[in-house]
Formats: sequence, structure tokens, C-alpha cells
Amino acid sequence: MSEKRVYTFGEGNKNMKALLGGKGANLSEMTNMGINVPPGFTITTNTCNDFFEASGNFPEGLMNEIMEHVKTLESKTSKRFGDLDKPLLVSVRSGAPVSMPGMMDTVLNLGLNDEVAEALVTLTDDAWFVYDAYRRFITMFGNVVMSAEREKFDAVHKAEKLKEGVTEDTEISLEGLKKTVEKMKKVYKEEVGSIFPTEPLEQMKLAIAAVFNSWNIPRAITYRKAEGIPDSMGTACNVQVMVFGNMGWDSGSGVLFTRNPANGDKGLFGELLFNAQGEDVVAGIRTPIPLIEMKEQQPELYKQLINLAEKLEDHYKDMQDVEFTIEKGVLFILQTRTGKRTAKSAIKIAVDMVNEGLINKETAITRITPTQVDQLLHPHFDPVSKEAAKKRGDLLTVGLNASPGAASGIIIFNADRAEEQGKAGASVIMVRPETTPDDVNGMIVSQGFLTQHGGGTSHAAVVARGWGKPCVAGAEEIRINTQDNSFTVKGRNFKEGDWISIDGATGEVFAGVINKVETRFEDEKELSIALKWADEIRVLGVRTNADTPEDSRRARQFGAEGIGLCRTEHMFFDQEGEEISRRENIVKMILLSDMAAPILRKIADLETKLEENPGATNLDAELSSLNAEADANTSVQEYKVALNALLPFQRKDYEGIFEAMDGLPVIVRLIDPPMHEFLPPREELLEEVTKLRITGENPEELEEKEKILRVVESMWETNPMLGLRGCRAGLMYPGLTEMQVQALFEAAVNVSKKGIDVHPEIMIPLTSHINELKAERAKLERVAKQVMIERNTHLDYMFGTMIEIPRAALTADEMAKSADFFSFGTNDLTQMTYGISRDDAEGKFLLNYVERGILPSNPFQQLDWDGVGQLMKMCVDKGKETNPNMEIGICGEHGGDPHSIEFCHIIGLDYVSCSPYRIPIARLAAAQAALKHRKD
Ligand code: PEP
Ligand code: MG
Repeated sequence: MSEKRVYTFGEGNKNMKALLGGKGANLSEMTNMGINVPPGFTITTNTCNDFFEASGNFPEGLMNEIMEHVKTLESKTSKRFGDLDKPLLVSVRSGAPVSMPGMMDTVLNLGLNDEVAEALVTLTDDAWFVYDAYRRFITMFGNVVMSAEREKFDAVHKAEKLKEGVTEDTEISLEGLKKTVEKMKKVYKEEVGSIFPTEPLEQMKLAIAAVFNSWNIPRAITYRKAEGIPDSMGTACNVQVMVFGNMGWDSGSGVLFTRNPANGDKGLFGELLFNAQGEDVVAGIRTPIPLIEMKEQQPELYKQLINLAEKLEDHYKDMQDVEFTIEKGVLFILQTRTGKRTAKSAIKIAVDMVNEGLINKETAITRITPTQVDQLLHPHFDPVSKEAAKKRGDLLTVGLNASPGAASGIIIFNADRAEEQGKAGASVIMVRPETTPDDVNGMIVSQGFLTQHGGGTSHAAVVARGWGKPCVAGAEEIRINTQDNSFTVKGRNFKEGDWISIDGATGEVFAGVINKVETRFEDEKELSIALKWADEIRVLGVRTNADTPEDSRRARQFGAEGIGLCRTEHMFFDQEGEEISRRENIVKMILLSDMAAPILRKIADLETKLEENPGATNLDAELSSLNAEADANTSVQEYKVALNALLPFQRKDYEGIFEAMDGLPVIVRLIDPPMHEFLPPREELLEEVTKLRITGENPEELEEKEKILRVVESMWETNPMLGLRGCRAGLMYPGLTEMQVQALFEAAVNVSKKGIDVHPEIMIPLTSHINELKAERAKLERVAKQVMIERNTHLDYMFGTMIEIPRAALTADEMAKSADFFSFGTNDLTQMTYGISRDDAEGKFLLNYVERGILPSNPFQQLDWDGVGQLMKMCVDKGKETNPNMEIGICGEHGGDPHSIEFCHIIGLDYVSCSPYRIPIARLAAAQAALKHRKD
């Protein structure tokens, strides 16, 4: 049997969207529900695809099948195409499987010609209505079906109205309309090159082909690309008996939402235009009335609409967007679909519908998207204001959307100036080539950050996400001139103090100010309820990446169940109000290290050996002599003093974090960044040294600076991210790990004595070999034991490592012998698996790769399931082989990305960890992953 291509409304149902399109499937469903839908039929999406296959020709047999359905329509309505007693008019409309509002074409009033028009006049006794419908039909047919310019037809109508001195469509005389129709037919002939077709079946055939062809018009293709809708879907075509909203003032056309799509409030929301066809409502030519006004004006009809809304919601279990027409007081429904809604509305509707018993909690959780949660929690630009800026030509560039949110402020290029201006109450956007921990004072008071270089895991991006501030990174088009504090872009120059606006969700940078819309988590009651339901469903834990007590507290409010990553590097930089400079001490330690470190490393290695072979007298003797040597070495002593000076500060920092995380686990990662980052930049030093040499003014300072320069040059690395960082720093700078661990344990003991419940987990970064882990573990255990003996107490703790280097993942069974937990540092793991520099690639080629489809997505934003993911899976399996109870989580930026979270769920991680503002997203995404992969 040949394929069925045409379905009468009622033959299909709502589950047949792929074949009948959304509109066709729902028209069938509503017909079967007994809703007053004008009869009609749907031509399938497969037919559309076959039409393209056949180079724009109807597949064989299609026209016969259509004719049969036309006959059914004729007998159902007792009307006939082209009949002069009871003529049939239809609409021909597109309807894709997924909603593409306004993207494709529609033709109304099809079947009209001069004779039919006159017959309708006799039948309706309403010549004005008939000729109004006729002029609309010629316009739509000429424009949509024959591709003539719509303006040419509209100009005729407008000119006639002008002649009569009227502006409203409803005010033109019948004579004026008749003249309009005649003139439009002439325009048609001029524009199309043939006379207006009078045969209704011919009109219908052409209109159906036009609807199919509208699948490939540029705006539809663009929309599909933006929404990720496959081109292969095709559109269905619906032919439906016309009902007329323009049959006088007891008729009208309208749209209704069963709930408010902007805020989710219950109750009808929508508008109606009396004496008009649907296109007038969309075109905005006349102003419709809000539906609520019908309550007074047409109480009976209003009641019908309320009943309809209830019936539809009861049936579809979701908010509906409905098109309707009232023809001489009778209500007809032309379409229903799931209503598009704002983030706020989506969350409220989902929660309300559970409370009303319409849906269950699981369904509610699948109805909210992580993007909606993100949108809701970050201030965003008012779309109207943004559009206006684009029209003004104020969109300057689009960089990397590194941290969502929107901010406007004055440009400041320097951290101290930003601090000064911010504290004086100015709105500041800090603009830097790239930021470093040294810029933090300025970043704290800024509204957002814009960087010329750097990617999604750059310092600016990570800090911004942690603080919930917007950041656009890697905006390479912007050329910053640090000499005169300005930047140029698109031939425009911007100086300090000029206003710009950045949209961290899209990466857009605008000149001037854009209006904002804001929300607060505490005020979003429905979101809290939905997230509690998500917590009941999810299997993954959700922790936070937080480095300060303030971030930790904020993360707890958002629902964090612990800290998955506390980066400790900021503890080496100066903080406000402290008398001793942390920075000076770490610099001193580094400068002294070439003299002090070799002997101290030997001592540490001997101590380890002695621990392994207690009583080995030869080792004992060697150790004593080395210790004596070290005691007499002033460099060693000064090195130790510098290191120890940092301890009280770090202890205080840890205490604050433990207090904020009372009762919850806290993973502290020991020092990680390349060590040269603590020293002044080489170029800066070079400039200073040259100046001092030329002036000869300050020989002591010159000597000091020359020494620093020598060290900086000796530390220079071609690939610092593959250099002396992570656990390598702990192994090469003796005492560094010990100092951090001592501070941490002393802090833990101090706060636990105050009644705080502490669960420290100490994490070693960037390990690649088990021996690194063993050596660090030995030091840690020694220090931990010592602190506990001194303070006469016991504390449980865990020791673990980050998995950031492929070798660590590949040897996870070995690594697991010396670790209680693993945490995937997927920023580095992605960098090292791909061999792509995380700090450079996004601005240079990676985004271009994604745009051209060479990579499916940015692997620093969305975890690469097939490559990096497989390493992770292998690591989990191997690690658990050695230690089935091993705790395994993720703390790379992917921990806050829904697609990556799904993978973490699949491979059975214990938790994901992300920046505080992404916690609500992670809670939702984890629940959605659990639902999607639920094993019933
Ligand atoms: C990582 O590499 O994923 C990580 C969390 O560490 P960082 O970004 O600090 O290198
Ligand atoms: Mg890392």
C-alpha cells in the first residue's frame, strides 16, 4: 500500500508531531477532544521532504489524495470550492514538528475569485467583509505564494484609505475596497507576470507548494540553525476551512495563553481584536484589547474561553498558547501549542502545576531548563534596550561568554584605579589584557570584567563565576593600549571613564548603557521549592568551588553540600588591613630558594627514609650533620622565617572557611599555580632596572631589582602550565606543603574546639606519578600527627589528589593506593588531553573551530565525553578496583555545566563541584540526569 500522505483532522493525535507537525497533530487531538475546530486536513512532513526530493514537484498520487480530502471537507461543511451558492474558503498553513513561530508561511481566504466574491456577498449580505477578505487574499497570495513584494499591495490599500481621508482598515468604504481589489489584481499582473489565478484548486496547489518551500526561506533556515532544529524535519501543511473574525463587531481574532507567560500567574492572558483576521493581531496594525476586558464586554464568550483553557491544560498538562477566532459570536479554535515562557514563568508554572495535581514532581523538574535557572539568577539586559543599542551600531564586539550576567559601567584599566572608583561609588567595568590575582582588589568592586585575552578558565572567568559577576573574556577585537589607558575597536576609541555594557551570557560588548532586569535567589520561592524536589531526585552530590568564607556562605545559601575545591593561592597575596605583606614573604622565599632549597630537600628526603627505616644509624648521623649545616646557613634560616610568616594568615583564612562550612566536607587544594606568577613580571623589572642603571640614583634598589630579575629569568619557562606548578612546587620548595598543612590542621583544631564540625580533605594538585603522591602524603601525615599531638586531640581527615594529567588517570589503580579521594580537574585534564592551551586557545582558534564544526563544542565549557570523558571513566573504574569506597568528584569548570553533569552521573561520580552561582543549575541538572538515566 502506498504511503498515506493526507490526514483528516481527527485521524491523527498529539503524539504524531513528527509526521503531522505540531499544529496538525494538535488540531487532530483537539478535534477528537470535541473542541470546536474548523474541519480540515494535514499533508505530512514526509510529503514535504519528498517534494524537495522531486525538485519541487508533488509526489505521485498526492493531488488525488488531496482531492479526496477536499471532497470530505465539502461534504462535512455542505460547501464547495468555487460554488456560487455555498462557496468553500480555506486557509493553507505551515506547521513544523517543533514550533517555529512566524518563520514560515500562511495563506488565508483561499478559494476567492470575482464570482465567488459576489456569491459570498449574497450569502452573507456583507459586501464589505467579502471585499476586505478578497484584498487580503490577493496580498497574501501575491506575496507568499508568488514572492511579489508585500509593500506593493499594501501601498494600494493605503492609497485608497488616504483618498478617503481615513487611517484605520475598518474605516475604508466598500467602494474603496472594491477599487483596492481591482488595483491589486493589476499589481499582481505587473509583479508576477500572469493574471491572478481564479481556479480555487489551482490556488490551493500553488499555496501548498509555497508552504513547503517556505521551509527553506532564509529566516526559517537561520532560526533552525540558532535553535538546533534539523533541516531534515520538513514542514507539514494544514488546509482548514476558513472561519472569519472580520465578519463584523461580533467577530474577532485572538490569542490566549492559559497562564501568564511572563510571570506564570494563573488566569487567562492574551488579546483579542474585534472585526479582524489573525494576521492583524500579529501585524500590530490595530491595538487589540486585553482578554480580561472581555469579561465585562462578552461574559458568555469569556466563560467559554476559561472553560477551554481548563480543558486544554487538563488534557495537555501544560500551559497552552491558543489561537482562536470568533465568527458571529461562535468560538473556533485554530491552534494550540505548548506556550513559550520566561524563566520565571516556567518555574512558577511547573511548581503550581504540581500543587494543583496536574503533574508530578519529576515532570516539573524536566520542565525547567538549566538555562532558565541561570537566566533568572543573573541580571540580564532588557531585550528591547539591547536591540536598540544594536540598531544604533553600539555592539562593539562579541567575545567569549565567560560568566553570565549583565553590567554597565565606566571603563577602568587598572586594579587600583578600579578600587578607588568603585569605593567612591562608581559602576566599574574592569578592562584588562588579562587579570591576575594581583588585580583582585579592583575586581571586588567592579561590576564586571572584560579581557582582551584568555579563555573560559582564565583567572577573570573563574573569579567572575565564583562571584556571580559577568565576564567577557578573549575579546581579541578589542586592542588595549596600556600606555595611554584606552582601547580601540571597530575604529572607535574608548578611554578611562567611558561607559560600556557587557553581557556575560552572550559575550556581547556594547558602547553606552543598556537597561537591566534583576532577580534575587532569596526572593524566588518557587525556585527553592523546585530545587528541593531536584535534591530528592538527584544521586550526585553538589559541592562548591569557594576560596573565601563569604563565597562559602553564599554557596551554602544556594544549596552547596560542601566545598569541592578551595584554591589556596589567593592566601599568598596581600589582603586589606594586614600589617605584614604576604606577597613579600612568598617572594622572599622564592628568592632564597636557590640557596636554601637543595639542603632542605635533602633533609626532607632523609626524614622520609628514616621513617621507612627507623633506627638506621647511618641515616640518623647524616641527618644530624645536614641539620647542623642548615642551622648555620643564613639563607636557610631566612627562607624558613619567610615561610613561617605566612602561616598565621593562612590559619586565619582556613578557620573562616571551616566555620562557614560547619558540618560539611571541605576540600582544600594545596598551592597550584606556576611559581613565577608570584614574582613581578619580567618586562616590568627590566624597565625598572634599566631606569635605575641610567640614573644611578639608588644602587641598593638596583642591586635588589637585579637579583629579582635574575631569579625571574632563571625561572622562565616556555610552557609554564606544564612546568613548576601543582605538587611539583610542594616537592621543590621544602616546607611549603608543611606550612600549608600545619596552618590547615591548626585551624581545624581551633574551630573544632569551638564546637564547629570540621571535615577536612586535603588535595594535592597536578600529580602524574604515585611517588609524588606518596612523598606529599608522608609530609602531610607527619605534620598532621604533630599538630594533633601538640594540641592533644584527634581529627579525621582525608587525603587525595586531583586527576588533571592523563597519566594519573591511566594509572589510577596505583594512585588510589595513596589516595582516599580523587577529584577531576577537568580544566587541566582537557588542556592536557587535547594538547590545547586553556589560556590561549579560546581567543585564538578554538571558537573558530566550533563555529566551523571542526569541534562540536568548546571542550573547556562542555566536557568532551568521547575523549576526556573516557579517561575519566577509566580512572573511576581503575580507582574503584583498588579502593571501592573511594570518593570521586569533579571540580573543573565542567562541574557547573549541565551536559557535563549528565556524564558525571553516568560514570557514577559522587559529586560535582562548581562556583556558587552555578549551584542551583547543578542541582537541577543532576536531577535531570538522574531522571533521564533512571533504571526502572
Ligand atoms: C582544573 O584544572 O580543572 C582545576 C580545577 O584547577 P585549576 O583550574 O585551578 O587549574
Ligand atoms: Mg588545574
